[in-house]
Amino acid sequence: MILVTGGAGFIGSNFLLEWFKNSTTSRESIVNLDALTYAGNRENLKSLDGDSRHVFVSGDICDRALIDDVLSEYRPRAIINFAAETHVDRSIAESGIFVATNVLGIHSLLEAALVYWGSLSGDERKFFRFVQVSTDEVYGSLVHGAPSFVEGDRVCPNNPYSASKAAAEHLVRAWWSTYGLPTLTVNPCNNYGPRQHREKLIPKVIWNALTGMPIPIFGDGQQMRSWLHVRDNCRAIRAVLEFGLPGESYNIGPGEERSNADIVSTLCTLLDKLHPHPKKSYSDLVTNTADRPGHDRRYALNCRKIFLHAGWRQHETLSGSLEETIIWYLETWTGRSFSNHDRHRRSSGF
Ligand code: NAD
Repeated sequence: MILVTGGAGFIGSNFLLEWFKNSTTSRESIVNLDALTYAGNRENLKSLDGDSRHVFVSGDICDRALIDDVLSEYRPRAIINFAAETHVDRSIAESGIFVATNVLGIHSLLEAALVYWGSLSGDERKFFRFVQVSTDEVYGSLVHGAPSFVEGDRVCPNNPYSASKAAAEHLVRAWWSTYGLPTLTVNPCNNYGPRQHREKLIPKVIWNALTGMPIPIFGDGQQMRSWLHVRDNCRAIRAVLEFGLPGESYNIGPGEERSNADIVSTLCTLLDKLHPHPKKSYSDLVTNTADRPGHDRRYALNCRKIFLHAGWRQHETLSGSLEETIIWYLETWTGRSFSNHDRHRRSSGF
């Protein structure tokens, strides 16, 4: 069994669903501890109702006594920590909860994991793993033309969210260096796919288009980001769990970079095709707003290490999978059904 925290959120829920679909992992159970904040959604895991491989525990990673109980009751071979406060705009407005969950919560998990790991012996102790899901945002901003970030580059976070994630990474590393707890860290780029909270860019554009609200773009929209389908990220995290080396960190991302303005414009074009408005193009709703303070200009990752250590490489491209993602939100939010024929006929990429 493994312990996943934050498994009712976007990436965590996709990780669980992919885990149980994958032939090599599907027989191994998951205990999923989640505080069900505004970002956690039990509906994301509805298809696992009644499935004995999934044990849901409602709780907070800051609750040390609860974590101790869960570890001694379920005796997992690994912990994967997805639980976090994740929205940059919220972190600017209310940073305290980001420090509480993303820093003190990790400290509580590490302390509990260390005691638990100390109680193990033989192979159980040797093969135990603690995987921290961090972010590419910890590296800070890159200028155009500069080489992509490699693992070990200086972290230089620019907003309260990325600062709290960087602090967590330091703790995770120290628990390896000081106590020998077999920790690994992954640094994924922006993910897209089903089950993401609608405060995040891609679902937000789709939601605002459907409800006729302005589609905001911060500043000039020329912030460069890499986008990875959440399924690819889940495969990468599974690969790091099995093949990654303790004490190491692994970037996860595609080579391709896109500006935020380009993503928004592509989404509007696809929405015009898939769910046309009778009178206008969705791009008419796009509105430039004042830039976010501390807004990083560019993130880019060099992902050679995860390929060399764990054999992972990206399977899905944005041009191949964005339309499928939009269809998922249209089906979920409007109740409209896209038949396989429709999907096939429409999937022309962009
Ligand atoms: P999310 O906001 O969708 O989900 C977070 C989950 O954590 C929710 O289910 C929430 O209920 C739970 N949670 C929050 N505080 C908790 C606490 N104190 N105790 C227990 N559970 C708690 O986040 P996400 O987008 O799925 O991100 C998952 C992880 O991946 C985060 O650590 C995030 O920093 C990282 N990450 C996300 C992205 C992305 O594009 N979404 C990119 C890189 C890294």
